[in-house]
Amino acid sequence: MDLAGKTAIVTGAGRGLGRAVSLAFAESGANTVLFSRSRESLLDTEREAQRKGARTLAVSGDVTQPDQVQAMAERATQAFGRVDVLVNNAAIIGPSRFLQDADPAAWRSIVETNLNGPYLCSRAVLPYMLERGSGRIINVSSGLARMSFPRFCGYCSTKAGLEQMTRCLAAELSGSGILVCALDPGVMDTPMQDAIRELGEEKLGTELYSRFRGFKDKGMLREPEQVAELAVYLASAAGLERNGGVYSLSDMKA
Ligand code: NAP
Repeated sequence: MDLAGKTAIVTGAGRGLGRAVSLAFAESGANTVLFSRSRESLLDTEREAQRKGARTLAVSGDVTQPDQVQAMAERATQAFGRVDVLVNNAAIIGPSRFLQDADPAAWRSIVETNLNGPYLCSRAVLPYMLERGSGRIINVSSGLARMSFPRFCGYCSTKAGLEQMTRCLAAELSGSGILVCALDPGVMDTPMQDAIRELGEEKLGTELYSRFRGFKDKGMLREPEQVAELAVYLASAAGLERNGGVYSLSDMKA
């Protein structure tokens, strides 16, 4: 798929799915803006994207900080003159505790990152997209948006909120030329899954720990590169027929 001349912003670009999506955009010819907190991993993704011939801009920053998000969107338009695609990918797993045991600061942090982050990033790019009358916002969700998972109440709730934000924003932007969707990646072999397994049996409980351990041991984790192809598809002219919808790999047309 050809995204030549387009500019795509990817949050959480330093590792995992965000890195794979950034590299897939770079491969497709898009100018790629990389945003996450750790500078070192961001620069590593940038070097790889440049090797693919892409023009890149790496901005270290935090999706929970309105000024940093705003500055990143401004730098992106200054560098490339436009923003065509925003992938709200950055997220954290949050307090892996029963709700009554979850620390209020950890709960606030997951809401700030997983729900307010996509709000702030969307808000920052929308003026540029509205001016051009086109754009795509892809919110990375999770199957847990629609499933109850003990000890992951914060994560499940923020992803459910993100899917509802997707539907509402798509309705608000109807007729503007800007399309919005959620991407459900399935379970992937990324540092987030490593971190969940590292919580161990004591914190996760025997049942949940064996479930996550099983994903890895039984080879059920997808490679993020596979899911990155879906992000490119949704950013391309052919993809995203259901505005406001949730997409998974099975929605990709050959
Ligand atoms: P990951 O390996 O933990 O990577 C998360 C990325 O987000 C990192 O680059 C991290 O970089 C960045 N990030 C976290 N907090 C941030 C903040 N406040 N500001 C800016 N960047 C921030 O996660 P992943 O597995 O690739 O997950 C990617 C997306 O897929 C997430 O939305 C996740 O919820 C979703 N997902 C994952 C799975 C799975 O099985 N892995 C399943 C379903 C859905 P810094 O820490 O350097 O900022």
